[in-house]
Amino acid sequence: MRIFILGCGGSRGIDSRPTAFLIDESLLLDSGTASEVLSLEDCARIDNILITHAHIDHICDLPFLVEAVFDLRKEPIFLYGIKEAIEDISSHLLNGTIWPDFSRIPNPKEAKLSYKTLKPLENLKIGSYTVLPIPVNHTVPSVGYLVDDGKTAFAFTGDTYLTNSFWEKIQNNERLRAIIIEASFPNRLEEMARITKHLTPDLMARELSKLNRMDVEIYVTHLKPFCRKEVVADLDSLSKKLPLKILEDGMQIKL
Ligand SMILES: [Zn+2]
Ligand SMILES: [Zn+2]
Repeated sequence: MRIFILGCGGSRGIDSRPTAFLIDESLLLDSGTASEVLSLEDCARIDNILITHAHIDHICDLPFLVEAVFDLRKEPIFLYGIKEAIEDISSHLLNGTIWPDFSRIPNPKEAKLSYKTLKPLENLKIGSYTVLPIPVNHTVPSVGYLVDDGKTAFAFTGDTYLTNSFWEKIQNNERLRAIIIEASFPNRLEEMARITKHLTPDLMARELSKLNRMDVEIYVTHLKPFCRKEVVADLDSLSKKLPLKILEDGMQIKL
């Protein structure tokens, strides 16, 4: 499995593209970035999109991506998310007012976007992947994902504060090779992290200690651009005891 990091910023800004990971070539995990970095042909190869939650930094390219491939694809793009995320996207973003409702254009039968509601903690087969949505602890209903292709697997926390169930659910997957975990704010802003339900490097290290595995790579994502330097410095001092890599836009992970 290859994971192409289209964007891994905790917001949009200069040198910071919002969250989107392209898995191999047809599965997109969150849709904060796609149409501005992929060719039209590569965009058109995306058959399925998995959404962690409906915050704007995880869905902001969705309107442009769906529009970009509208004429190129015969089959619809399937958009997977938990009920609350799908409802928020369809009522507040692709609602016919803010942007066209592509689930009804040109008509509901032949529409180029199809919503699929996921049930938390139920495995789902999407193409050649088995995907497990795991509820996490954020300000809006959110899930992280365990993505497994039968040979290798990785887990993505999405946006989260402290959680136990995420670690319990991924713990025993023997194909697990990598974890992508968020660290949005520096240790100095721990109170801000608590209020907005995100992690700091220290909280992230505490979370990782719940996973009793030494055999997985740790990738850190979702650093907020306004405090990136400070988060990187905090992560650097952690990296002496905890082997971790900070994700960057454009990077590729091969599992
Ligand atoms: Zn976010
Ligand atoms: Zn969020």
